[in-house]
Amino acid sequence: MSGFLEAQGPSSVSHWIASNRGPGSLHNHGKEDSLPETADIVIVGAGISGALLAYYLANPEERYGDVPKGRTIVVLEGAEVASGATGRNGGHFAPATFMSYPNLIRSRADGGAGVSKREAVRILRNEWDNYERNTAVIKLHNLQDKVELWQGRVMTVYGSEDELRDALETHRQWEEALAEEGLSDWSGNKFYTDTHEVLKFTTELLKLAIASERDHISLFTGTPVIDVSETQASSGQDVRTNRGTIRAKQIILCTNAHTPHLFPEDHPLKTFIFPSRQQMGLVTPTTSFAGTRALQTTYGFPKGYCATTSGGIVVGLGERVYVSEGCGSAEDFIGNSDDTTVLPGCTEYLESFMASTMIGWGEQALGEGLTRTWTGVKGHTIDRLPLVGPVPDRKGLFLSAGFNGHGMSTTHTCARALTQLVLNGTWDQDFPEAYILSPPRLERQLPEGGYVRLITGAHEPAA
Ligand SMILES: Cc1cc2nc3c(=O)[nH]c(=O)nc-3n(C[C@H](O)[C@H](O)[C@H](O)COP(=O)(O)OP(=O)(O)OC[C@H]3O[C@@H](n4cnc5c(N)ncnc54)[C@H](O)[C@@H]3O)c2cc1C
Repeated sequence: MSGFLEAQGPSSVSHWIASNRGPGSLHNHGKEDSLPETADIVIVGAGISGALLAYYLANPEERYGDVPKGRTIVVLEGAEVASGATGRNGGHFAPATFMSYPNLIRSRADGGAGVSKREAVRILRNEWDNYERNTAVIKLHNLQDKVELWQGRVMTVYGSEDELRDALETHRQWEEALAEEGLSDWSGNKFYTDTHEVLKFTTELLKLAIASERDHISLFTGTPVIDVSETQASSGQDVRTNRGTIRAKQIILCTNAHTPHLFPEDHPLKTFIFPSRQQMGLVTPTTSFAGTRALQTTYGFPKGYCATTSGGIVVGLGERVYVSEGCGSAEDFIGNSDDTTVLPGCTEYLESFMASTMIGWGEQALGEGLTRTWTGVKGHTIDRLPLVGPVPDRKGLFLSAGFNGHGMSTTHTCARALTQLVLNGTWDQDFPEAYILSPPRLERQLPEGGYVRLITGAHEPAA
């Protein structure tokens, strides 16, 4: 897991990380600088969540009220900017559609999220909001070229008539739920998506925050937080790092899969969030799928997904499929936080994935096909929902984590809502209540079958 927390050696290098090491990146930023002794706010983790928090804190919206200027805000990153899930993902920014509806309303005992129909509608509406806000920020700062923004449609491919029939039935139930709320599908039943270089977007957001003339915002990479003191002191809490300690009034953990490390053994957050590893690949298309013949949509296939980027096609499969295809055991993925190695079985599967999925792929020249493969670690929660809000009984400590492998469509609204909470103590009224971190939520139990069943068999009722 990103090397710094456990002595596992250097992390594997993703396509996004490999293509972002030039002078314009924030690699090594602040690594040699001295840490301040105090800060108003410390953000731990510089993935997309930490970067969005820094961005919104530096650009408070009017509705937050009177936010004091000149605050000291420090971002501490244990490894490099976006070196966690953000810099290792599939680059697929697709708001969830009606297809997520069954998992949202299924009971928690059966591995679902167990929310009401109304809350499910609110959650899916929130993902649409997330999509629109991401592109709005990119366009507001003219970052389209820098982050290589591409907007289009996502195509879902069904493997059999039965699967298609099930999907149509789910769609019927979804339309019914919308009608009960007096709504119609906001996307017009067209499934939008974008891809953009999220590592570059994270970098640009942090640069905008650091350039703030309103507050003093600084970023320190290579600075793992070892622990956060448990005091209730009104003067703040101590954030202990390998390079010194900062006393902060407010601390926001944007540490996703790594969050359990910062809590004691008997704390519910030690097990509520758990890691799961996934392997991805970069495929250089054959000329049959290049230029005017390049893929015009991103795809969700029965056994994987892909997103076209200017550098090629990023392809991945979920753990469930890797396991069922015999690429590895459940334990190779679930509960595993090692991003330093890849699995030979997954690599072999990825090597033939596009050729066996796309009709007319053609013969691959040397250098075409799978050119790079890597692993990344996702932060899952036992109730399948992101976990955002104040940590109970820990004054001034907040969390935004547990994006269940789908953070491109949830991290923006989570960071925005948490900024409002940190600055004026209120929740955005559109924010899904089901995402809020509360003591009763932390009492939820892992369903029968544990983490493995949550990831590989959530659709099947308990035996
Ligand atoms: C292989 C893979 C494929 C994915 N594909 C998609 C996809 O196609 N679409 C989609 O929507 N989502 C996808 N996701 C999920 C998405 O990438 C995440 O939900 C999102 O990036 C989470 O962002 P984050 O900033 O919260 O967490 P992260 O990006 O994991 O950032 C956490 C940061 O905190 C730092 N950190 C942790 N602990 C400490 C500490 N103690 N001290 C200092 N720093 C610390 C880490 O180094 C890391 O940089 C995928 C994830 C993976 C791994």
